[in-house]
Amino acid sequence: MTKGVIEFRNVSFRYPGTKELVLDHVSLKIEPSEKIAVVGKNGSGKTTLVKLLCRLYEPEEGEILWNGKNIREYDLREWQKIFAIVFQDYSLLSLTLGQNVAASEQYEAERAKEVLQLAGFGERLNKLKKGLETVVYPEYEQDGVSFSGGEEQKIAIARAIYKGGQICILDEPTAALDPVSESRVYESFDEIVKGKTAVYISHRLSSCKFSDRIFVLDNGKIAESGTHEALLSQNGLYAQLWQAQAQYYKV
Ligand code: ADP
Repeated sequence: MTKGVIEFRNVSFRYPGTKELVLDHVSLKIEPSEKIAVVGKNGSGKTTLVKLLCRLYEPEEGEILWNGKNIREYDLREWQKIFAIVFQDYSLLSLTLGQNVAASEQYEAERAKEVLQLAGFGERLNKLKKGLETVVYPEYEQDGVSFSGGEEQKIAIARAIYKGGQICILDEPTAALDPVSESRVYESFDEIVKGKTAVYISHRLSSCKFSDRIFVLDNGKIAESGTHEALLSQNGLYAQLWQAQAQYYKV
């Protein structure tokens, strides 16, 4: 599928069997190739927004459109092909590193190396005796390696880059990284997503530097939206979050 405009029109949602609305009449529009940050406290509905976009769930009310057409009208497999996503709860498999990156048994070694490099895993890869053939998780294999949380996140990011896709979504992929590594991940991702739509989801604000526009979610509602500068001068929720985290991100 080619480039497109994403639009949420008055979307509300609650998880099956629960009472609380997790998204409450959300309307937003993302232009092709735009870089968007969705920020807000934990539990404000950011991941849910992405799950609806990928059609893991359906809105209870309202609609989600791609170039003006309801996303439900697209073939589900075709629709899901356009996303390269790193979810918060990504999972690695007890296969080799290369297979984990490609998410398949066969992989292109050169490309796998390249994307691991882009994800900031290059140095670590060079130190692995078996390189891409290293089995992830030692309990299944004698020579297996158990990676740290931060390293696993980098592998998950490499997997999304390897897959490719028109819409790149990073959902809190950097939670286990320190602020410097976090900034590096966004920096390299910024290179990779050139010309594509990118949605960065985080309760931390380092992604905002790399975004054209920011949506601030609060209790399932879009509380504020705009550029970093505009939101700071608005002196609202975004400005509050920024002040609270400023020691990490001030340049
Ligand atoms: P965020 O990404 O901003 O941290 P989420 O979208 O993950 O927020 O969650 C929003 C709200 O929905 C939270 O209150 C969370 O507990 C609830 N929630 C998330 N997933 C489920 C689920 N599968 N079933 C029921 N409630 C859920």
